[in-house]
Amino acid sequence: MPSDGPPAARGSAIARPSVGAPLEEQVWPATATLDDDGVLRLGGLRVDELADRFGTPTFLLDEDDFRARARAWRAGFPDGDVYYAGKAFLCRAVARWVAQEGLSLDVCTGGELAVAASVGFPPERLLFHGNNKSVEELSRAVAHGVGRIVLDSFVEIDRLAGIARAAGIRQRVLIRVTPGVEAHTHEYIATGQEDQKFGFSLASGAATAAVGQVLGAADALELVGLHAHIGSQIFDTAGFGLAAHRMVGLLVTVRDEHGVELPELDLGGGLGIAYTGEDAPLAVEEVADRLHTIVGKECAGAGLAVPRLAVEPGRAMVGPTTVTLYRVGTVKELPGLRTYVSVDGGMSDNIRTALYDARYTARLVSRPGSAEHHVVTLVGRHCESGDVVAHDVPLPADVAPGDLVAVPATGAYHRSMASNYNHVGRPPVVAVRAGAARVIVRRETEDDLLRLDVDDVDDVDGAAGEGSKPGEAGR
Ligand SMILES: *Cc1c(COP(=O)(O)O)cnc(C)c1O
Repeated sequence: MPSDGPPAARGSAIARPSVGAPLEEQVWPATATLDDDGVLRLGGLRVDELADRFGTPTFLLDEDDFRARARAWRAGFPDGDVYYAGKAFLCRAVARWVAQEGLSLDVCTGGELAVAASVGFPPERLLFHGNNKSVEELSRAVAHGVGRIVLDSFVEIDRLAGIARAAGIRQRVLIRVTPGVEAHTHEYIATGQEDQKFGFSLASGAATAAVGQVLGAADALELVGLHAHIGSQIFDTAGFGLAAHRMVGLLVTVRDEHGVELPELDLGGGLGIAYTGEDAPLAVEEVADRLHTIVGKECAGAGLAVPRLAVEPGRAMVGPTTVTLYRVGTVKELPGLRTYVSVDGGMSDNIRTALYDARYTARLVSRPGSAEHHVVTLVGRHCESGDVVAHDVPLPADVAPGDLVAVPATGAYHRSMASNYNHVGRPPVVAVRAGAARVIVRRETEDDLLRLDVDDVDDVDGAAGEGSKPGEAGR
């Protein structure tokens, strides 16, 4: 029953072929294909079999896609450094892939540093940033031999200088600058004054003052360059271009005021990805070209040697590589209002919908389903009405309990932002590649959750040590 009404009207049927409808290329991982019986394949494996093997919900990560993206970034910056932003999603396997593909790694906490260290990630290829790194974290980073630490405040300059001096090390550092360019999705805002917690403002002169302070601590700190990160989910090169222009301007100021030419310029991450068929992300090659052109031109104009460029993609590296596989539990049709399709995960594995009103697509992936589609709200299992996985997604009208539904583009800021809300264990991450699947982060169990709970009284009567503790059955 095709509808002529506005698209995505509540509960409406829309004209949209389902049987054999192609996968929208930009939102599904590179190896995604559909079998004739409507089952999605990833890395050569059928998701119905993966669901039987690993349960649901599960994050399925296409390892070949991840590695191909890593190589594309590497190729885009052959004379520079590509730091994978670990906060998007980090585990030991991913840290290893990043190392193997010749990339560097950007960490923002001691925890992320610990993951890198646990697989022997080359310390000199690590960069540590953040606005409030603790003394303990800074000390650990210095002792570990982290290649670059990004200084974010005046107090941190003194703090790190003290730590490096005590350790007898001259630590390489960058200075985080807020260039007054704030980019989000399709727009960027150019401002003079910045109001944010990160970095040193360029416009106020704080950035040049920071350069002076770091140069004054040259016995302990080696200033190698400047760093900026202007936002996330960016679809336009204009914001990157303006930031690059301003950062080169600052390199010129530093040369003129302090007599030093800083050899490195890190322009951060932020490149957007497609969450729905309407998003048109920029190609890595295009961004690389644009940044090289702008920096090259500005430097030539100012008589400055072109600095070594660094970028820090997170979302654009891992976001498109992963789909979340859910099983449908209930379908609730509210006549005249909408249909709620509930899956076995939700805001504990995808907080972006509730937090940023993010948009997603979803697809029935265990069978073709009826040709007629209904626009439904895909919701989770949590006790919270804002627990929405995807707003207004077309699904076959006969979607039913037991079906598998996949949501693509969930590799970045999903597992890494997952929670245990309602005492739900976080889903596993399963890497698929060339017909083989392996768990790289296992599913969290109730035992895992109870292990953190240190009440030493075992039963409601207050008797210690008499009940059986989880995981200690048969005691
Ligand atoms: C978050 C962040 C990134 C990665 O951002 P994406 O949007 O995931 O590419 C890179 N650099 C810094 C400093 C960040 O804070």
